Amino acid sequence: MAEIRIDNVSKVFGDHVAVNRANLVVEDQEFLVLLGPSGCGKTTLLRAIAGLGMADSGRISIDGRDVTYLRPGERNLSMVFQSYAIFPHMTVRDNIGFGLKMAGEDMKEIGKRVDEAAELLHIEELLERRPSDMSGGQRQRVAVARALAMKAEVLLMDEPLSNLDALLRLEMRAELKRLLQDVKATTIYVTHDQIEALSMGDRIAVMKNGVIQQVDAPSTVYAEPSNRFVGSFIGNPPMNFLEGVVAVSGDDVNVNVGANTITPDPSIARAVAAFDGKPITLGIRAENMHALDGPAADAVEVTVSVVEPLGSQNLLTVDVGGDRMKVATHPTFEVAPDDKLWVQMPTEQIRWIDPDTELVLSPAHDVESVR
Ligand code: ATP
Repeated sequence: MAEIRIDNVSKVFGDHVAVNRANLVVEDQEFLVLLGPSGCGKTTLLRAIAGLGMADSGRISIDGRDVTYLRPGERNLSMVFQSYAIFPHMTVRDNIGFGLKMAGEDMKEIGKRVDEAAELLHIEELLERRPSDMSGGQRQRVAVARALAMKAEVLLMDEPLSNLDALLRLEMRAELKRLLQDVKATTIYVTHDQIEALSMGDRIAVMKNGVIQQVDAPSTVYAEPSNRFVGSFIGNPPMNFLEGVVAVSGDDVNVNVGANTITPDPSIARAVAAFDGKPITLGIRAENMHALDGPAADAVEVTVSVVEPLGSQNLLTVDVGGDRMKVATHPTFEVAPDDKLWVQMPTEQIRWIDPDTELVLSPAHDVESVR
């Protein structure tokens, strides 16, 4: 059992708050991805968990044991670094066994564990070679093998694939995922690559400016972002955002977007109505809209600006009101720049966002909090 519990953890460098009151529970054997843009504090939080940089405040526990101020070696965890941190002139065998040797493990057990880890990573034939003569992908495998040989209950990985070229990265992503399913360690995996996060994690914790924004399953983070930042950081293309103004008349709630009127889904209408007469932001993903070549009652009129054929789909950049958005269409849908189109936005796919707080409204949104 190795649940990791992070309670109110902060870390400050000078006057810069790198991690701001982080709260997170990673369940036993879960694969949690810590995702966010460069500089958002992911590595700082991971290092605090590892004991490589102490938290300034808060508490970190592993399996119920308070480890906040313990040395790394006392935490029963292993780590894979972005730089791999393997010794170039030591053989692969010695590199993989290094942590075990430092921990005072006996030679027979070290030999056994090195062989097992090498087999898992398919690098048995490299054991007597030196990393200085190996490719980036091979070095990366050595770093992972060294971490796995420790058989720690907690595995921390800091951007382990970021030094690999695109194709190798794709291969290793699937391979690591399979491997970690078998190893069953509780894993925290840091990346700024949202595709890696969506494809690998059991859950994703999204960070921005030292603050954890949302922790959820990949499909939830994608479809139900908690705020505008999460919607824009996850997904390629990012979620579209349009500006509208709410108009309530009796029981009718409508939102005017340029010359178009959109009626919110009944499930959210009450929360939207609280913005009567005020601006509101709509969020919708490119693939959740349907492009039509003729008008329809519930479609908004747009002008096509750019057409990008991407093989499996065409990605259109269109102008609507004063905003631009991306719309995905079937590759056989015929369209050219300057064409007029009509785009249906299924109301259940629209996320409604308070422009001031940038939070996505929920049906239970506190309508009293609207200015
Ligand atoms: P990246 O993806 O680029 O590695 P990150 O999200 O992991 O970014 P951190 O490395 O945790 O970000 O850094 C968070 C912030 O803290 C950054 O603004 C960084 O400049 C700052 N920082 C990190 N380590 C130190 C340090 N030792 N001294 C001063 N500032 C630091």
